[in-house]
Amino acid sequence: MVDLVPTTRLLPTVAGTAIEPFWAATAQERLCFPFCECCAAVRWPLRGACPHCHRPTPVRWQDVEPTGRVVSHTRVHRRFHPAIPEVPYWIALVELAHGIRIVGGFDGGGEPPRVGQAVRPRFEHLPTATLVSWQPRRPEVAQAAAEDREVNP
Ligand SMILES: [Zn+2]
Repeated sequence: MVDLVPTTRLLPTVAGTAIEPFWAATAQERLCFPFCECCAAVRWPLRGACPHCHRPTPVRWQDVEPTGRVVSHTRVHRRFHPAIPEVPYWIALVELAHGIRIVGGFDGGGEPPRVGQAVRPRFEHLPTATLVSWQPRRPEVAQAAAEDREVNP
């Protein structure tokens, strides 16, 4: 379910939902997912029963490394709702640790995503939710930052 709020953006319903811990984590710029209390398998998307051990046990929410790789992508050319940003735009399916897959917008600075490309999240803080989109994780950027820290500790 989505709500149209005065920001003119489509935002997910957060409060009172089963995945509220996910949204609470994104508000703190973390990625947190449910894991089965019985067998420790990831249970994402969240379901009543574990897809691995088939038990309806509770879940334990746990932070996951906020980096992943693009496994699929598409370019959207048609605006299906007035609150959707300008078109065209890219959407990427990203795989994180534990085989967790999550969909989000992709901002490659004008470059399209590539399958296998290393990405990191970008957190967009909006009035009722913090949305996650993806951007390239460029080793040269990380290396330059590390070098800068060495020069300017
Ligand atoms: Zn399980």
